[in-house]
Amino acid sequence: NLKIGIVGMPNVGKSTLFNLLTKVGVPAENFPFCTIDPNAARVNVPDDRFNWLVSLYKPKSAVPAFLDVVDIAGLVRGAANGEGLGNAFLSHIAAVDGIFHVCRAFEDADVIHVEDRVDPVADLEIIHQELRAKDRAKIEGVIESINKLKSRGLKKEQLEELDCANRILEHLNKEVDVRFGDWSAKDVEWLNEYQLLTAKPAVYLVNMSENDFARKKNKFLPKIHEWVQAHGGEPIIPFSAAFENKIFEMPDDEKDKYCKEMGVVCMLPKIITTGFKAIHLIYFFTAGEDEVKCWQIRQGCKAPQAAGTIHTDFERGFICAEVMKYDELKELGSENAVKAAGKYRQQGKEYVVTDGDIIYFKFNV
Ligand code: GDP
Repeated sequence: NLKIGIVGMPNVGKSTLFNLLTKVGVPAENFPFCTIDPNAARVNVPDDRFNWLVSLYKPKSAVPAFLDVVDIAGLVRGAANGEGLGNAFLSHIAAVDGIFHVCRAFEDADVIHVEDRVDPVADLEIIHQELRAKDRAKIEGVIESINKLKSRGLKKEQLEELDCANRILEHLNKEVDVRFGDWSAKDVEWLNEYQLLTAKPAVYLVNMSENDFARKKNKFLPKIHEWVQAHGGEPIIPFSAAFENKIFEMPDDEKDKYCKEMGVVCMLPKIITTGFKAIHLIYFFTAGEDEVKCWQIRQGCKAPQAAGTIHTDFERGFICAEVMKYDELKELGSENAVKAAGKYRQQGKEYVVTDGDIIYFKFNV
């Protein structure tokens, strides 16, 4: 299962966000891995399409998509050298597939900042330097272990790996994250093996005061924007952990009224869906009177592999995928109408499944 990790310096609001996600999440007791690892939560991915399909089919069971989120303790300057248990935390990041970077853009004299100032761009610099330092150490290790074998002569494969590792190191030495490099398919194979921290996609969550969030103005936000644009331009989501915490306690009608008055919405759904997309996950639906279910797959997955997520037999005996496009089903109103309009399509084994496809697989047993 792909996971996204919450990363940031201490006291930026990571645990507050994680606890909120845990509370809106699937109860931990249903997911043994969450009880074993209290820093893991599984949250449902909100989706109007899914809700609509459930209202159409009125199935006995409905299974939404989910995102696994891991809370990774605070990183500090020097983490890659072992400061503040840094190395242990950094190795937790190796186990996730994407990163929520929580940035502190709220000022509160009662909440100490480890660097004794509030400056989210400087924080981002520190964190990214630590991540690159850890990657550099990993790659230097690879280079060193290949070089040790040099006297006995290197095989072609080892020479290729050495060349690739040297180029990765050169790239990191320019202070650029690995994911913003130009890598060949062969390089990507090595990169997949190394699991480098700066290869993981990022989403920036900017935690500000409730006031700033409501007036959609925060003195740090333009600088953060600028920094993120200059570093890959990945998604930025402004939010307020304090606000989210506050509305979480309210009954639904009161929550709606409060949000309306403030002119804001709860940002947790956006955070969850953006995180899900960032780690290259999509899902297709199976839909019927028994069940409407989201099946998560990697982007670019072909029909037989998608079928395999339901059952290995479906992949082995794959005949075809009968596919409805969500928008067409929604517009036409029923499966029969989709068929009558000639839009119920049979797709073969080369078909690349797209997000939101509604699929019925045919297979040989
Ligand atoms: P972590 O160390 O990054 O996990 O940070 P926490 O979530 O534990 O938050 C650290 C402290 O900052 C706690 O006392 C929180 O109540 C407080 N805090 C978190 N988010 C906000 C916020 O949006 N505004 C204010 N004023 N305080 C916050």
